[in-house]
Amino acid sequence: MQQSAVLPVFSPFPVRFVRGEGVYLFDENNRKYLDFGSGVAVNALGHCHPALLKALTEQGSKLWHCSNWYQITNQEQLAKTITDNSFADVVFLCNSGTEAIECTIKMVRAYFSAQQQPQRHRIITFHNAFHGRTFGAMAATGRGGFEPGLPGFDHVAYNDLEALKAAITPATAAVLIEPVQGEGGAIPATLEYLQAVRSLCDQHGILMCLDEIQTGIGRTGKLFAYEWAGIAPDILASAKGIGGGFPLGACLATHKAASGLTKGMHGSTFGGNPLASAVGQTVLHEILQPGFLQQVDTVARYLWQQLLRLLKTYPQVFSDARGAGLLLALKCTANNRTVAEALLEKGLLVIPAGDNVIRLIPPLIITHHDVDQAIHLLTEYATTVSVKEHSLA
Ligand code: PLP
Repeated sequence: MQQSAVLPVFSPFPVRFVRGEGVYLFDENNRKYLDFGSGVAVNALGHCHPALLKALTEQGSKLWHCSNWYQITNQEQLAKTITDNSFADVVFLCNSGTEAIECTIKMVRAYFSAQQQPQRHRIITFHNAFHGRTFGAMAATGRGGFEPGLPGFDHVAYNDLEALKAAITPATAAVLIEPVQGEGGAIPATLEYLQAVRSLCDQHGILMCLDEIQTGIGRTGKLFAYEWAGIAPDILASAKGIGGGFPLGACLATHKAASGLTKGMHGSTFGGNPLASAVGQTVLHEILQPGFLQQVDTVARYLWQQLLRLLKTYPQVFSDARGAGLLLALKCTANNRTVAEALLEKGLLVIPAGDNVIRLIPPLIITHHDVDQAIHLLTEYATTVSVKEHSLA
């Protein structure tokens, strides 16, 4: 076989999808798969949603790109929809999650620099976090391999208030935290912890930054997960679901937190272009329809109950269930990639993550029927494994 010309930084499963429709993907042989991965929490409205298709094609026949040298109506509308429905006063639009994090880091540094406190530049982040692949995001994640990395990050244990308190110094500028650690294995912060982090930040004049790239845009049954804790951050990074499959990211902030980033200090060629903004605006329009988020919450709770039953019935196959909303996970006793591959063969797509889990992160439009189908396939898998293990014993 001819070697692929693609840089081999991924390790794809042996399948090629050629078409998507709603909660289903179809491969080259027209085999149908129930998509409980949604391109890693991206296809919030499923595949080829009619409203997104209409927005894309209509805008695509008018104007794709014109540069931020000009005023862009779609960009302004999308930013207004976001600010009307969140804590934020202003939004910077970009093309990916890691760019939204990069903007977050720059905003923090710029804020304290403008306050004549450049010595306050360190950002506290968490063990097991994931914030992206640029140098800033890698440093925030705490991942090495490209030394020297960007300095200025302190990593502490997640959900551990004493560890966080102990890490705060006069040089601390911000805390950056995922409300649920997605890549880390769908591990939620407790609501009390998020509230305590907010209080600590207020007490010390520290900016609270949320990475809601995976948890935002309806995934937990609220537009943003922070709403569950009844708090508001100063800065928030969003991406993935916001474009429904079109590359789009956003950095949301209060006027105060954003005050240091002034003209010329940040920018993007593609960020906020008319095409991406039209798609993003349509995603939000759909998610903000009355009843949509309530339905996400209802179906998520149903999926959660079914996962707990599965866990109880097959403790030799699954050792834990966790997560929030439609960002759920089962910890596997066998290798999680092997489990994901076995489920793929059965026609169910799930995504492996840290701590040997498989993530169930379906499109937000799934129904109870889709959940039943996924649970049926998971049960079939667990039964087969249990029978095999039993006969080997
Ligand atoms: N932050 C979180 C919480 C993520 O889950 C991801 C991607 O998985 C990123 C940041 C990076 O986003 P992107 O891959 O769009 O750069």
